[in-house]
Amino acid sequence: MRCTPAEAERLADLLGHAVGLAEAPLPTDGASDGPFWQDTACPSWCEGGHLPEDAYEDRLHSGGLHSGGLPSGGRTLIDLLLETAAEGIPEQLEVTVAQHYRSTTARVHVIKSEQAELRLTPAEARTLAAHLLKLVRAAGLPVETTWPWNPIEGMTVGGDPAFPCPHRHPWCSGHNKTEITEYRQLGSHLLHSGPITSIPITTSSSPGSIDISINSLTDRAQPLAYLQLLGGDGGAELDATAIDQTIAALQFTKKFLLEAQPGS
Ligand SMILES: [Zn+2]
Ligand SMILES: [Zn+2]
Repeated sequence: MRCTPAEAERLADLLGHAVGLAEAPLPTDGASDGPFWQDTACPSWCEGGHLPEDAYEDRLHSGGLHSGGLPSGGRTLIDLLLETAAEGIPEQLEVTVAQHYRSTTARVHVIKSEQAELRLTPAEARTLAAHLLKLVRAAGLPVETTWPWNPIEGMTVGGDPAFPCPHRHPWCSGHNKTEITEYRQLGSHLLHSGPITSIPITTSSSPGSIDISINSLTDRAQPLAYLQLLGGDGGAELDATAIDQTIAALQFTKKFLLEAQPGS
């Protein structure tokens, strides 16, 4: 796995935070709700969802680092910019904590793109974090290098330099630093957008345009066409069916326009 110094530093930060959670003892008070086997309350970081039918080995408290006091500005996922990502799926690292309800020790899990998983004891996680920080410093790179990308030449988003799309959508024209940083916070989304064409038109005798682009929100699987009338308010989102209907309706309308032409 290749990562930039900034990514390695953030992984070290998240590992340190996870170790803090993992080393706290489980609560000793009884569970107020939960299945029959759960004899103590969940730790603060557990996402719950325990069921009576959970097999013995599945009786795990587990959760991501979503609680307060997170390093790295509340971001819980690390995009791996140097790893080749499949379209639409960024290569990412996530750090979580898990503890079997009968175990006295929690484990820190480092998960790569929801597939490969590294299970570490708190001591191992702390050692890994220390090694990562040592590597970052030995590389002679400033630890504050939090922005390893170069902007795309000549592209701006909202007036700021545009950086490559972290999800590698080939049609996405990029994102500014604020967009990419903010979407790492819980509950935020990234709007991917790429221009297709701009059709010159006239609106109430002044020149304008219909701008067509592809838009997609990170939480929406299907990208849509976005039609924006310059000078108007908002735009229209069209799926594949609506695009066909619009084209058919315009072709139909065009027939009448041509028939109405003088001399035809
Ligand atoms: Zn739990
Ligand atoms: Zn994008």
